[in-house]
Amino acid sequence: MTTPPMIPVAKPLIGDDERAAVDRVLRSGMMAQGPEVAAFEQEFAEALVQGRECVAVNSGTSGLHLGLLAAGIGPGDEVVVPSFTFAATANSVALTGATPVFADIDPVSFCLDPASVEAVVTGRTAAIMPVHLYGHPADVAGLAAVAERHGLALFEDAAQAHGAAQDGRAVGTFGAFGMFSLYPTKNMTSGEGGMVSCDGEVARKVRLLRNQGMAAQYQNEVVGLNNRMTDIHAAIGRVQLGRLPAWTTTRQRNAAYLDAHLEGVATPTVRAGATHVYHQYTVRVDGDRDRMVQALREEHGVGSGVYYPVPNHRLASFALDLDLPETEKAAREVISLPVHPSLTSDDLDRVVQAVNTVARAGA
Ligand SMILES: *Cc1c(COP(=O)(O)O)cnc(C)c1O
Repeated sequence: MTTPPMIPVAKPLIGDDERAAVDRVLRSGMMAQGPEVAAFEQEFAEALVQGRECVAVNSGTSGLHLGLLAAGIGPGDEVVVPSFTFAATANSVALTGATPVFADIDPVSFCLDPASVEAVVTGRTAAIMPVHLYGHPADVAGLAAVAERHGLALFEDAAQAHGAAQDGRAVGTFGAFGMFSLYPTKNMTSGEGGMVSCDGEVARKVRLLRNQGMAAQYQNEVVGLNNRMTDIHAAIGRVQLGRLPAWTTTRQRNAAYLDAHLEGVATPTVRAGATHVYHQYTVRVDGDRDRMVQALREEHGVGSGVYYPVPNHRLASFALDLDLPETEKAAREVISLPVHPSLTSDDLDRVVQAVNTVARAGA
């Protein structure tokens, strides 16, 4: 049997407009952070975080790192994060000198469970940093209530959630800062990059920290880094920002199709009032998950991903012996299926047929 062409689990969409934008910047002769970055910050703020100030940096990880530093997180502090996420979430906390403390997830949303967060709060806890995983907003109301009870700050890892919202309020507007990643596989890209939504003193500090600690040249106020975004990357990001609304609608439409036609796997649930932007369309498999991944790829030419097979607390970099049952269960069961905007209706049908066939065979 010949396998049909592979359907990838993610596909960055780069077109003529992105190429023209890069060319425009290259021809200007000015490539480092400049007017394109300033325009991108302004446009991103208006399009995605209801006008809240935005500061562009060279990666999502840098955005988390600088946001945490700007909010005053450092040695002696504990920041509660999920273990079921990409390593950048906890890495950025650890790199400030603070300690990431892992809490469990709510099995429905795959995001931090407020009750589990409350159970790990100590006298050293300074903040809670949920991840809006897969593009679904974390339980911001529940987490804000825990933060309020214990006098903690709230930060948002919105790396995967451009345009997600809860009750009409955009992610990236709930915490002292929010971070959006612009890595190529995210819902929009600048090549590499990150955007931090914040305001007032936090915004001022993120701007300082990304540029050696200076606002005016050679007048360094604090010790900082070079985490600037280039105008080349910003020019790509500006084009992508304009394309994002249509892509998000297509992701949601693709997800609705999968919801309606998949059998034998547990499809995603959207909390009441939540806007899910389907960075990933993640199902649970009640059987041999790894065998399903392999069968989808080898027998049906359907790419899929496992986000994430190893919880952060069990990575060699943290190596903690913790009891996080929902995190462990999700890490064993999840599989993310193609949902990206370049899927054709034939592709979607192939995904459905493949998953249903493999699930029926008892993966
Ligand atoms: C992608 C991602 C990051 C890091 O973003 P980069 O731009 O790759 O540095 C952080 N947290 C989560 C949840 C992510 O998915």
